[in-house]
Amino acid sequence: MSFLDRHISSTRLIRTYNASTVLQTLYRYGSCSRSQLTKLTGMSPATITRIVAELIEQGIVLEGRVGKSTGGRRPVYVHIDYTKLYLVSIKLLRDDCSVALLDLRGQILSKNKMTPADFNPNPLIQDVILAVENLLRDCQINREHILGVGVAISGVVRSEVGLMVNSVNLGWKNVPIAELLGRDLDLPIYVENDANASALAEFWFGNAKDTANSMYIKTETGAGVGIIIGKTLVSGPRFMTGEIGHVPLVQNGRPCRCGQRGCLETYVYLDDVLARYREMTAKAVSRSAFIELIHNGHHSASEIVGETAQALAFACAHWGVLLDLDVITIGGFWGGLKKEIIDYCQKYYNEVLEKTGIPRQIKITNASFGDDTDLLGAAGLVIDRWFVPFPVLER
Ligand SMILES: [Zn+2]
Repeated sequence: MSFLDRHISSTRLIRTYNASTVLQTLYRYGSCSRSQLTKLTGMSPATITRIVAELIEQGIVLEGRVGKSTGGRRPVYVHIDYTKLYLVSIKLLRDDCSVALLDLRGQILSKNKMTPADFNPNPLIQDVILAVENLLRDCQINREHILGVGVAISGVVRSEVGLMVNSVNLGWKNVPIAELLGRDLDLPIYVENDANASALAEFWFGNAKDTANSMYIKTETGAGVGIIIGKTLVSGPRFMTGEIGHVPLVQNGRPCRCGQRGCLETYVYLDDVLARYREMTAKAVSRSAFIELIHNGHHSASEIVGETAQALAFACAHWGVLLDLDVITIGGFWGGLKKEIIDYCQKYYNEVLEKTGIPRQIKITNASFGDDTDLLGAAGLVIDRWFVPFPVLER
């Protein structure tokens, strides 16, 4: 048994694949009768009756209203008890460290921004532990009711063991985050790369809800991609899926910090973009001043935005068709430019598809949650792990 699952108490279920399927169905469909669950899951009525009884006994599922009879006994609808379990999410980025408490539907109930004095792993982890303990105390939540703690962090993460392999953003290498946090918090800890977490935020709570295949393109602080295929996050055998920022995309494109040309990173990383504006005009601008220039149709700003729009349009069309996606979300600064970026990418995609003759619709959109995306993603990660059955624990 690893430290990831040793804390699973009866509240958090001793689960089987079938129980997980029933919970997922109730989460997706809301209130269901046992016969509806039988139809939706393909399981036998006896299995559904047994699993629902177990879930009721564990206090995860409640019986609700009684439906109309269609000849036999009147059906009783069952639903998940949303007042029973909560999620803790943590965002660890150099410019924003926050902790939040959420309900199972992804509503943020309380959120605290941290102001760490020291970004080295040990002091920062200690600060995080304190912040989570304060949050639970202030919200008067017993930790037995916390399903798990999700952590969204920039860099390469070995998610299955909660190890931060390398984070340029925080300057960390090989930090066992789940082990360090889990030891003191005594809760299950799940860690994921921020782009992957953002994809989960959209999948569980946002624009990509109810779709099978989606992608989140993280922009502004870098270029990372989170991909969900067949409702499952794709991370790859070396956890490198989506590390696409420095693979040249635009032929003879803009020079990048990495020494190559045309990387997506150099088109979407805001510091690089503002530096390019400075080179073109010999004037420095802030983020907000640059937005104003764009909206006023300033020549150089518009030229720069046009280049980024084209780079993102290439990315959406290539990766979207390659992966047969339903939804692509462009997060961060660029997703906020509806006309210049989102509409442009959608139009380009539609034109490409029309010419290739592929009868396919795809939705390109901005992020659902703005600055809260990482926190929602960390919460989505906990939900995701809740529904992915761990080996059944014998007790
Ligand atoms: Zn590069």
